[in-house]
Amino acid sequence: MIEINDVSKWYGPSFQVLKSCSTRIDRGQVVVVCGPSGSGKSTLVKCVNALEPFEQGSISVDGTKVEARDTNLPKLRSHVGMVFQHFELFPHLKVVDNLCLAQQKVLGRDRKEAESRALALLQRVGLADHADKFPAQLSGGQQQRVAIARSLAMNPTVMLFDEPTSALDPEMVGEVLDVMVDLAQEGMTMMVVTHEMGFARKVADRVVFMDRGEIIEDADKEVFFSGAQSERARSFLSKVL
Ligand code: ADP
Ligand code: MG
Repeated sequence: MIEINDVSKWYGPSFQVLKSCSTRIDRGQVVVVCGPSGSGKSTLVKCVNALEPFEQGSISVDGTKVEARDTNLPKLRSHVGMVFQHFELFPHLKVVDNLCLAQQKVLGRDRKEAESRALALLQRVGLADHADKFPAQLSGGQQQRVAIARSLAMNPTVMLFDEPTSALDPEMVGEVLDVMVDLAQEGMTMMVVTHEMGFARKVADRVVFMDRGEIIEDADKEVFFSGAQSERARSFLSKVL
């Protein structure tokens, strides 16, 4: 579903942020990406969604080449859900309208159809009673669940997550991870940047470990956690576990 081949990227003339990164995520797989701050995780995820250009290599999502000049990027992005650390909801729109906007504007659904999908998804993330509130009236964990529901409203074939719980108070992390675990167990293809190793143990198929722009480890979950890793990954794990 996602194929990343030998991707290299520079910020400016001399700083290479990604160094020949390759990995793949098959349909229905969950891959967790972890590694120290500044190792290039966010940059890699953004390349998958064409939010960042890259100079070398290739990425394809569901058969579409991200870097090809003739790729319809809005169309590509409409199939690729993305959830960031900061929820980035539209503050002036009610929760239900946050979920309806792109369905109507991008997918051309009528209001009734968009709203019924919105309400079903809010139910699914446990927020059916909050449809008419504004984002600022919700807790961080609730806002992040709205952000996930908003992505799902577009019927994505792939979901990308970039540290979706790292800005949350500790007591709200669980409710967001629960939604993500459900999604994984329903068979969604997911690329998840997170340091939540409990989540990785529960639902990841593979774990990718990055350091200084390189993919140092790309291993089945069992192999990754049972210790056959590089010194750098071990040292990282000892800090986050
Ligand atoms: P991570 O998500 O693993 O913390 P990032 O992908 O955000 O890492 O960043 C990788 C490196 O690239 C860091 O050194 C960061 O400072 C740098 N970087 C990120 N975005 C930019 C940018 N727009 N311009 C220049 N450098 C950047
Ligand atoms: Mg990051």
